[in-house]
Amino acid sequence: MSLPADQQDQDAGLLRLYQSTMGIPPTGRLDNRTAGLLSTPRCGVPDLPNVASRYAYFDGQPRWAPRGRRFTLTYAIIPPPATPDDRLPHPSAVRAAFRRAFARWARVIPVRFVELATTAGSEFSYNTADVKVGFFSGDHGDGEPFDGPLGVLAHAFSPPSGQLHLDAAERWTVHLDDQEDSSAVDLESVATHEIGHVLGLAHSSAPDAVMYPSLKPGTRKVELTADDVRGVQALYGSNPRFSLSSLSEPDTSSSEASASPANLLLLLTMIHAMLASCLVDSLSLNLLD
Ligand SMILES: [Zn+2]
Ligand SMILES: [Zn+2]
Repeated sequence: MSLPADQQDQDAGLLRLYQSTMGIPPTGRLDNRTAGLLSTPRCGVPDLPNVASRYAYFDGQPRWAPRGRRFTLTYAIIPPPATPDDRLPHPSAVRAAFRRAFARWARVIPVRFVELATTAGSEFSYNTADVKVGFFSGDHGDGEPFDGPLGVLAHAFSPPSGQLHLDAAERWTVHLDDQEDSSAVDLESVATHEIGHVLGLAHSSAPDAVMYPSLKPGTRKVELTADDVRGVQALYGSNPRFSLSSLSEPDTSSSEASASPANLLLLLTMIHAMLASCLVDSLSLNLLD
């Protein structure tokens, strides 16, 4: 049993585009590495086609301030809802994780993040903050419903939206080492990634970068790589106290990123969804070959 030749060519082309964007060898085949990536939990922000193995921006390169100007962003966190099984970390631990995540970006660009206190009923702070962080379940009114445990973990919108949403259905943790549950997701890793989107970075195709779209459960990825730093500094300039040579990662990026046409914005995520839904069919087809 086999597919028509033109259908196979089309599928191989889509697979190669997906593989290039995810920074893995573009074999055009549903190999083990590709199948593994398709089933790895990820950020819900759509991927841009990216064959340059590096950072990228949203269409039009939106940002909060011109390059080189110091600026301040306020942020507020709606405390996670109380759950009967303590699935979410304590609000103070959530705030501390976000404080560390914001500090990593503030170390490299001339931005200051200021938290606005949110207590019960203080919706004013939340609504007036530049960056609005919250935990939501399922359909939460922005057209990007969450999907329950794993799959999509979080999403954030490009400047000047400031909306940063985490899927309340995940088993979020701030103490990965203590977790026996293999599906636990490190909150600080995802927070650091989503703040990158809030600042204007799209997904990087460099697998080590914080801005890479997927994150395996049980792993921690919080340190900005040279790729992340170069990307955000091209938008805002450098924090005068930061030097890129203080990062230990080798840097392989060099050329300027180019913005992609808006109509390509959703393409890669559509391909991802399509490939993921075809995965079972294709695997069973392979078995029948
Ligand atoms: Zn993302
Ligand atoms: Zn949302």
